[in-house]
Amino acid sequence: MPPSSVRPATVMTDPGATPVSALPGVGPALAEALGRLGLERVQDLWFHLPLRYEDKTRVTAIADLRPGERAQVEGVIEAVERGFRYRPQLKVAIGDDSHQTLMLRFFHFHRAQSEQLQPGARLLCYGEVRQGAQGLEMVHPQYQRLSGDEPVTVDELLTPVYPTTEGLGQKRLAGVIAKALALLPPDAQLELIPQELCQAHGLTSLREALLYVHRPPPDAHLGQLTTGRHPSQQRLAFEELLTQHLSLKRMREAVRRRHAPRLGGNGEFRKRLLGSLPFGLTGAQQRVSVEIAGDIAQPQPMLRLVQGDVGSGKTIVAALAALAAVESGYQVALMAPTELLAEQHLNHFRHWLTPLGLEVVWLAGKVTGKARQQALARVAAGAQVVIGTHALMQEGVAFAQLGLVIVDEQHRFGVQQRLSLRDKGADHESGLVPHQLVLTATPIPRTLAMSAYADLDVSAIDELPPGRTPVQTIAISNARRFDVIERIHAACLEGRQAYWVCTLIEESEQLRAQAAEVAHAELSAALADCRIGLIHGRMKPKEKQAVMGAFKAGELSVLVATTVIEVGVDVPNASLMVIENSERLGLAQLHQLRGRVGRGAIASNCVLLYQPPLGQLARERLQVMRETNDGFRIAEKDLELRGPGEVLGTRQTGQLSFRIADLARDAHLLPAVQEVGAHLLARHPQAAERLITRWIGGAARFVHA
Ligand code: ADP
Ligand code: MG
Repeated sequence: MPPSSVRPATVMTDPGATPVSALPGVGPALAEALGRLGLERVQDLWFHLPLRYEDKTRVTAIADLRPGERAQVEGVIEAVERGFRYRPQLKVAIGDDSHQTLMLRFFHFHRAQSEQLQPGARLLCYGEVRQGAQGLEMVHPQYQRLSGDEPVTVDELLTPVYPTTEGLGQKRLAGVIAKALALLPPDAQLELIPQELCQAHGLTSLREALLYVHRPPPDAHLGQLTTGRHPSQQRLAFEELLTQHLSLKRMREAVRRRHAPRLGGNGEFRKRLLGSLPFGLTGAQQRVSVEIAGDIAQPQPMLRLVQGDVGSGKTIVAALAALAAVESGYQVALMAPTELLAEQHLNHFRHWLTPLGLEVVWLAGKVTGKARQQALARVAAGAQVVIGTHALMQEGVAFAQLGLVIVDEQHRFGVQQRLSLRDKGADHESGLVPHQLVLTATPIPRTLAMSAYADLDVSAIDELPPGRTPVQTIAISNARRFDVIERIHAACLEGRQAYWVCTLIEESEQLRAQAAEVAHAELSAALADCRIGLIHGRMKPKEKQAVMGAFKAGELSVLVATTVIEVGVDVPNASLMVIENSERLGLAQLHQLRGRVGRGAIASNCVLLYQPPLGQLARERLQVMRETNDGFRIAEKDLELRGPGEVLGTRQTGQLSFRIADLARDAHLLPAVQEVGAHLLARHPQAAERLITRWIGGAARFVHA
């Protein structure tokens, strides 16, 4: 009897659901290795997409090699050198008909290998070309020896390179995937997006797309494939983005099905706060406040992200939302990522709310012992507002009646943290969950907001308070450091205040603090007639508070700081910012730091000190900073230069790791993704579920747990 007739019936109906172990040649060991990659069913193999391709379909002349490219080269060994200076090394120089030499370097090699690689031997190698000290080189290329005048045979197809795991080689993995692809059913069975939607959005055959990316034909355009712009890749990227969108939407629906208290009383507290402010709200602040008030008056939990550039005035908007909750007799928790930022909020909120007879409790990680017990007792007794770092949400914090959670600078928290926070505030008796307001100062590019934050509504404070003058930014080489110090001196004598930020990248706060101490000593000596303060992360909260207080009161002319002042610090009179080693910082961080000035009516300046020579990326970043103060443009550029995982700080959570999609590159697909997503959820919820299982599988189950 032929083996096919004894296959279980499921293979015939839904080959994708078949366990990989049912494929010929997949024994327990291989199945286990595949399992480590999350590849359990045949369809997991279909959607295990290549990371990149190797082009061994042709041989490139050494003279035509370009650094950064991967290429196949054929040549004869001209010289071999063994080095031992730092570690054993084998350097093999090969030459070809183009009369150029390429250096192959090996750091790990066995004896047999070094015996094989002798002058005169012919090699066919494949690897990435790098610019070495003595010309072009390849480190650890793949290679094979060619005998005598054996003609070179090149591959006919591009070779896909798959993500894999230890103990599972590319060839073996590709072999299993080929077997799985043999079971790929026709589109009618494979396709989960309804036919009419595929047509409306020009989505081509899924089956063809999968076959193409796994086995590109000989005439495939490598450039297109490498950059992910081939229509087949775009077809798959569309489906992957759609799946992520659906999964976030589903998460949001789950929350929306829960109940939240309706917040918003007679408006008395809000009216009194607004009456006490020295300014009126901007149009954008008013609009966003109205949006929030509308949300929290509903019995479903609000999930709203307020994004506004640095200095756009998010704090007062948050305070108004808090007061709406307080008016209904509910408590508010405000969480910030750093102690310094939380303290600033504490100061603002106490300044605004204490005159209204409200209690604001401080609950940071450093509040310990008796003080912590007391704070916890106040929270349990119903203190209206509680402010702190994430320690706020740690064990032992029991709220009397939490109605609203405000999270500032969200991009520093992962999506997981956001979810756990949401659950922390749930009241088990009433089943009510708090509303959630998320503030972010790093404007999130629209494309990212639409996908990564599909579980949140987004409001933008897209207007700065009146009377601000844009910050003038210049980049100056560290060689002219003394000119800069002179300039600061002159400015301070005129009564201006300056930040001098030290930006050691070192992981240790101790080293960072040291660098700031050195700069403090240098500036104190150079500016003997000015008062210079110092603030860094190693100082006690009380000390930090005292220094910030003195700077705010104008008693200090210069504040030497580490990047602890990056977020939230608000001293409107400060109008000069010097950032040392600015070439080491990312755009988002530079923008945050610069946002510390330009907060008052005084024209402000920012000096980006850099250590030459500048790399290409650093040069681009500094250029962007000089050109614009617009946080949205900077964020877009940041996304382009760094990629979305890092922009959102969610790299570790795995939320944004795509197999084939790239948010920056594929942003143009998102409007259609949203449209198709809405349609699927409304009309074909089961197809949506199956898409999620197909693309996210086990990871989706994890997010739901
Ligand atoms: P961010 O959005 O960066 O958190 P803040 O809430 O710290 O901004 O506000 C920045 C500064 O602008 C603060 O000094 C604040 O008091 C002031 N501010 C906020 N709203 C207005 C307004 N409508 N008019 C004038 N100043 C304002
Ligand atoms: Mg702020």
